[in-house]
Amino acid sequence: MKKVHYSELGLVNTNAMFAAAMKEGFAVPAYNFNNMEQLQAIITGCAKSGSPVIIQVSGSARKYIGEPFLPHMAAAAVDLSKEIGLQIPIALHLDHGNSFELAKECIDSGFSSVMIDASHHSFEENIEMTKQVVDYAHQHDVTVEAELGVLAGIEDEVVAEKSTYTKPEEVKSFLEGTGVDSLAISIGTSHGAFKFKLEPGQEPPPLRFDILEEIEQLVPGFPIVLHGASSVPPEDIAKINKYGGQMDNTAGIPEEQLRRAAASAVCKVNIDSDGRLAMTATIREILSENPSEFDPRKYLGPAREELIKMVMYKNTHVLGSAGRVK
Ligand SMILES: [Zn+2]
Repeated sequence: MKKVHYSELGLVNTNAMFAAAMKEGFAVPAYNFNNMEQLQAIITGCAKSGSPVIIQVSGSARKYIGEPFLPHMAAAAVDLSKEIGLQIPIALHLDHGNSFELAKECIDSGFSSVMIDASHHSFEENIEMTKQVVDYAHQHDVTVEAELGVLAGIEDEVVAEKSTYTKPEEVKSFLEGTGVDSLAISIGTSHGAFKFKLEPGQEPPPLRFDILEEIEQLVPGFPIVLHGASSVPPEDIAKINKYGGQMDNTAGIPEEQLRRAAASAVCKVNIDSDGRLAMTATIREILSENPSEFDPRKYLGPAREELIKMVMYKNTHVLGSAGRVK
């Protein structure tokens, strides 16, 4: 593995973007990607809407892409943003890092931000593992996200059957014990496309804003992160099912609740499932309507266009991050 510092790739860590998000009352989008088209769409959508962005990969997405590709893709992302005409701040982030070794490898190969997720361990072990990563990361000016509380759902290798809400009384000692830069909390969001199984007409349970507010009061000005914050648009599910897919009745986090969260101490909102759904719906439609098509550009190209639209919509109408970079 070739050693490279993120500043050589034109990336930034999350400090300045979170400070702006906190001061101006918006949330920085953190979009997951697994391939070139997704990354191109995320950068194009964010540069066109004037939004800072965190591009993130899980450990398994990093394996899928291939570790040597990532620094080059990140550098190309910076160039693409310049080409579009606006140099937006871009952070490359490890989503759900599960060991010090993985976090270190990422830091050494050009990531500007890492998450260490030891939330399924005991409180003491979570502090110990997080602090070890923070100590190494801060030597390289890399920012660290940790997690307290457990989200339900499935996303890549992260699996949990039930969620455990974050205990506000633990937050202060966790931050003091670790020196972490941002904290993912559990207030009712969940991973994956099947967040809530609802009967027709039923609303998903509201997020626990009381827990968020209590945490805000205990650690004012500290950046909070929301995982599992896709909205799972019914029109995407309907399109997937119309063109041969089979996805059950499902629902995500209503946009109104995400707007409220973005205006609070929540500085980073993770979006993965919605991007997958937008691409899959488009690809299914095209292949179903053009059964003789076999050129990947003919379905991946329109899927990329659809993802650009989704990113611009989220930045503008949900997270409030559009127009923050001028
Ligand atoms: Zn997550």
